[in-house]
Amino acid sequence: MEIIFFHSKSQRRNVGFLLFFPVLFLACYREPVTIIEGVEVPLTPDILSHEKIDSVIDGFEKIKFFELDTAYISYSDPLDKFEKKLKKLEYSIVKGRDVFKKIVGPFRVMHFLSHDKYYSANLNNVDANLEQYWLVDKKMLHMLLDLILELERLGYDKYGFMVRCGHRNPRCNIASKGSGQSQHQFGRAADLEIKDINKDGKSTDEDKQIVLEILEKIVDDDGGLGLYPGTMSVHLDSRGHRARWNSYKSPY
Ligand SMILES: [Zn+2]
Repeated sequence: MEIIFFHSKSQRRNVGFLLFFPVLFLACYREPVTIIEGVEVPLTPDILSHEKIDSVIDGFEKIKFFELDTAYISYSDPLDKFEKKLKKLEYSIVKGRDVFKKIVGPFRVMHFLSHDKYYSANLNNVDANLEQYWLVDKKMLHMLLDLILELERLGYDKYGFMVRCGHRNPRCNIASKGSGQSQHQFGRAADLEIKDINKDGKSTDEDKQIVLEILEKIVDDDGGLGLYPGTMSVHLDSRGHRARWNSYKSPY
């Protein structure tokens, strides 16, 4: 039996015509994406408040050091030196496409993860939903956001830097020749590469000095600042007390 909703053929034609456009739109519409490491990632707003940072971090399932699988513990801490310090901390479990989530400004979880074999295995097949363990201190991310907001307020390029590294488990820390006491091992540090902050078309020591001056006030007595003269790198951390160094080699 045929159910007829419309009184005449012309009414049916009109409705058909009106339906054509939304259907065509839905058929053609694709969510805007960006390509990262060969993977299509949806465009999402930048993270520009402390509350948003906290809610992304809080969204990850957590695991304690003693709950981690033993293969990961012996891989990530091969010298078996850090159990005492690491067991006080809570790891976030990052799975599959979680690595692409923005965590502060335009920077993503992947920028702050240990770049180890778990990281590569996940990126090689994000749909397998492989797990990685991540240490990150919200306070350090808040400091980075405060830097972004202050650069913007002063009229500079708020995103005129890159995040080179965040959490380094002890194995990654040895590989990158970090100090044995590096705050990166506890997720409290980030290394930045300074670009063209003052928008004059080049990246020079002037750009770096702008960043250092702002970070000096933000980090203050709550953490460490490594100046690395002669490079465009800066280290900041949220260790909870003041530390400063002005050498080429990092003591932290
Ligand atoms: Zn560092």
